[in-house]
Parts: sequence; C-alpha cells; structure tokens
Amino acid sequence: MNIDVPKNDDSGILHRLFELAHKRGIKIFPNQDLGENIFGLCVNFDGIKRIGLSSRLSLHAAIYVLSHELGHCQLHAAKVNYALYNKRDNYYDSIEQQADRFAAKLIKVLSRSAGVNHQMNIDGGQ
Ligand SMILES: [Zn+2]
Repeated sequence: MNIDVPKNDDSGILHRLFELAHKRGIKIFPNQDLGENIFGLCVNFDGIKRIGLSSRLSLHAAIYVLSHELGHCQLHAAKVNYALYNKRDNYYDSIEQQADRFAAKLIKVLSRSAGVNHQMNIDGGQ
C-alpha cells in the first residue's frame, strides 16, 4: 500500500501522533533495538498498551510505523502478541492490511488538519 507520509515534521505530524497516543493511554518507547526486521510493535500487557519503535527509523518511516502501530492498538490490542508477529498466514496478513489502512487514513487526516492550521497562521499574520 502506498502511504503518503510527509518527508519532514514541519507539519508536526509525528508530534501529534505522540500526543494522540498519550491521550489514549498508550505508552511509546522510541529508539528500541527490535532486531533487523521489526520496525515497530504493539503489545498489550497488564492492561497497558505499549508501542515500541525501532532506533533505525527515519522521521519519514517513524510517522508511518507509529500510525500503523496505533492502528494495531486501536483495532487489535486484544489479539496482538509476539507469537503473532512471527507468524505469516492469512490472519496475519489481514490485520497488517487493516493497520495499514488505519495508518493511511490517520496520516491523511493529520496532514489535512496540519494544512488548515498552517493556513490559519498565515491568515493571522504570523
Ligand atoms: Zn503491523
């Protein structure tokens, strides 16, 4: 899936994703060593949702990965566990597609509203 992620965070999208997670009680652990093939993960442990982000992400990638993991937290928190991450079957593929669609929508909405804010700042003469 092709997701349109801004190349820099001038729009503050990454910051807003962190805020969104915070509001939902999701704890984010950036700069984690997750190995070579995992860029982010969502775990639900002791009733607290946690997202780990790899230390090897560019800003561009971090926006996508965090949005995708927020999708897992929102849609699949009860189902996602480490065993599932290591599985490759139809069920795995379907939840990955759902998380990708969630990420695409979330990034679109945040990009749009960031544009509106920017416009308002210009109109306000700042
Ligand atoms: Zn995923």
